Amino acid sequence: MASAKSTGRNSPVMQQFFRAKEQYPDALLFFRMGDFYEFFYDDAVEASKLLELTLTSRSKDAEVPIPMAGVPHHAATGYIARLLELGRKVAICEQMADPATVKGIVPREVVRVISPGLVLDPEVLDARAHNYLASLAFAGARVGVATLEISTGELRACVLDDSASALTELARLDPRELLVAEGELAAVLKRVLPRCVQSRPPHDAHALERVLGDGAQRAREHFEPVVLQAAAQALAYAEQSQPNQPLGPIRLESYNPSDQLSLDEAAVRNLELVRTLNGDRRGSLLSLLDETCTSMGARALRRRVLAPLTDVAAIRRRHDAVEAFVTDRDARAKVRGALGAIPDLERIANRVSASVASPRELGGLRNALRGARTLKEQLAHSAGELVDSVLHELAPRDTCEDVLAELQRVLVDEPPIAAKEGGIVREGCDPRIDELRQLSSSSKDVVLALEEREKKRTGISSLKIRYTRVFGYYIEITRSNLGNVPSEYKRKQTIANGERYVTDELEELERKIESADVQLRNLELERFEALRRWIAVHVPRLGVLATQLAELDVHQSFAELADRYDYTRPTIDEGVCLTFHDLRHPVVERLAASGSFVPNDVTLDVDGARLMVITGPNMAGKSTTMRQVALAVIIAQAGGFVPARSARIGVVDRVFTRVGASDNLADGQSTFMVEMREAAAILRGATRRSLVILDEVGRGTSTYDGLAIAWAIAEHLHDVISCRGMFATHYHELCELAALRPGVRNFNVAAREYGDSVVFLHKLVAGGSSRSYGVAVAKLAGLPELALARARAVLNELEAGRGPAGTSGRAEGQGQLTLFASAPAAPSQVEATLRELDIDQLTPVQALVALSQLKALLP
Ligand code: ATP
Repeated sequence: MASAKSTGRNSPVMQQFFRAKEQYPDALLFFRMGDFYEFFYDDAVEASKLLELTLTSRSKDAEVPIPMAGVPHHAATGYIARLLELGRKVAICEQMADPATVKGIVPREVVRVISPGLVLDPEVLDARAHNYLASLAFAGARVGVATLEISTGELRACVLDDSASALTELARLDPRELLVAEGELAAVLKRVLPRCVQSRPPHDAHALERVLGDGAQRAREHFEPVVLQAAAQALAYAEQSQPNQPLGPIRLESYNPSDQLSLDEAAVRNLELVRTLNGDRRGSLLSLLDETCTSMGARALRRRVLAPLTDVAAIRRRHDAVEAFVTDRDARAKVRGALGAIPDLERIANRVSASVASPRELGGLRNALRGARTLKEQLAHSAGELVDSVLHELAPRDTCEDVLAELQRVLVDEPPIAAKEGGIVREGCDPRIDELRQLSSSSKDVVLALEEREKKRTGISSLKIRYTRVFGYYIEITRSNLGNVPSEYKRKQTIANGERYVTDELEELERKIESADVQLRNLELERFEALRRWIAVHVPRLGVLATQLAELDVHQSFAELADRYDYTRPTIDEGVCLTFHDLRHPVVERLAASGSFVPNDVTLDVDGARLMVITGPNMAGKSTTMRQVALAVIIAQAGGFVPARSARIGVVDRVFTRVGASDNLADGQSTFMVEMREAAAILRGATRRSLVILDEVGRGTSTYDGLAIAWAIAEHLHDVISCRGMFATHYHELCELAALRPGVRNFNVAAREYGDSVVFLHKLVAGGSSRSYGVAVAKLAGLPELALARARAVLNELEAGRGPAGTSGRAEGQGQLTLFASAPAAPSQVEATLRELDIDQLTPVQALVALSQLKALLP
């Protein structure tokens, strides 16, 4: 058993280990020993498995050998990144003094705890996505949700009426870590957000005051206690992660989720907004929209895609900005050039607050501020009169000139990564540093002069004075010249082709040079840290500038996209109509051969034809057509132009999707159960302003049950919710609804049949379809000819109203074809029962019971 046990017999080092481990029992402890981070006991066993390290043992500190594994300190970042990816938390225990200067044991302390939701290191973070820590608090049914992005200092919070809404919000935020007490919701969240690590929320009533300072009082006046609790939990947890360092400036902002177009987990997943169903970013909507030039812009675009707006005026303002950049190409090109040279100001500023930004990162900050200044000038001088005012509005107001000036004054042109190396401070900035530098470089000249002198004195022309960190200065003489070495030379080391010596003079010189170098490095480090502290005071201003740059970048990105791929400005209004002419699918279009994508017209109007029932062959393009409508709405409300000839969008409050079939066996849910849960969420959550995309409903059960449910859902959307909807189905019987409901229209995606093959025209045309050409598609997919021939024969039999040869003829499909043909006049018992069902009041289990009762009613 490898568990850690602290006993009085442990060595002082192991006692340090136990003290640190006791403080952070749930983290893997990176325990610094010289050039390595070591793991002990259970940590060693786990780390060796997770990181594929050799498991060794340390025996000198205990009677029983202690399991041990280690990683070189310079390679730690990569290992930490892997552990975080696996959802583990790590604690970094550092040596708090230089071992060379300490008598006895080096003091060690945990300086940072890194958990998946609290990452500051740019090498571990994805530059183009946020890395959120979310926190949940409850007050009766109400739920407070706070989201902290430690790398940008942003804390946003909202309150939701119930757990279901909180779930939707969390799915949209896609946090990497969540503070939630164990319970039913935590279990559901594990299923909905499998990548999200759950941790226990700390209880600390004073975190708000400590972190927000004066802002805490204002927050208490404006926010509900449940929101404050969620925010305080996140802050307390973040504070615990850096025990020796207060948190940098944090802005607490509240927002109202109802100001955003609501996208639940199913919509985000099914529409492949930020990653494909396979989990890749490539091929997602975001990857195709992204023409941003900065990481800040990329993150802002991602946030917009996941949280489009619903306020018409605000959306129009975004479109104005995009239009200005579409019109003034010259301004756009210049802005793109300037943005391209701007590093991640937002995250660097935050690393400055956390006192971890390197000299090189401060150099990056300087570049960012230079870029911001160029950008401001460019926007001030943009040419197009029409767009002048819009572009001027977008120009950042405060480009933090004072911070730029200080960085230019203090930092050298190319600052190093490691502050300890020196070479940070510009000449002329600090006379003491200049003086020491002079001393250091003149001492080096003295070394060269000494080398020359010794060459002459000994007559050894190959004599060299060299330096290494380990040995210091020495004189190197090759083997053939050893006979001429003067007697006062002191031998230090033998090497393969000669000997190394020192002299008293050289040792004295070394002492002088070293003390000048050490002083110089210390002074430079001091000056650098002073600069970093000074900048930290200005971080809130840098944060505002970063937000403005990110927004600017998103506008130009949408404009670049519009110009390059021929997107149009949509008209946004408060109406309830959606009209698209020649609408294309942004992703399928880009992947298809140039010019081969067939655009389609779509109109949906709550007060008129609001529900499209779309039939047609497999592979014709039904899903594509429906998804492109949802995607266009999302892009438009996110502030972009849309892939269409023209578009009018009566603002949408929620987009719902129900697509395809998937099991969730791990969670005890069958394909059909998943399908029904999604359908239930739609019928409960959709409003008159929503857009509902249903791509097949009821396929996961028997034909009768499936058709009955599909029919009932379509009716409910039309009659009860009255929202805009598109319903693709292979139940051709649903076309009957158009005759029974005023707001239902039939469409099909056209195909032509040639013999037993089918050619897809991808054109959406009015009218229902009576065929799915499934057998033709099966042929395309390569089903063996024998099976195909049999399928054709069975299909012919069924279509002729008979059962497949060799059966009794009572196939379910036979009944299916006539189920609704005569039903409308005299509703069947199934229909009548279905009508009476109040789906809103049913639990999933009751729904299943009702289904089985419905089934029993079938003839
Ligand atoms: P099924 O009923 O089998 O689910 P479907 O009718 O929903 O099929 P889609 O999945 O939308 O068909 O489209 C199938 C393929 O057809 C797409 O992957 C795409 O390559 C192509 N396609 C769809 N629509 C178009 C279009 N408008 N123009 C060109 N190609 C298209």
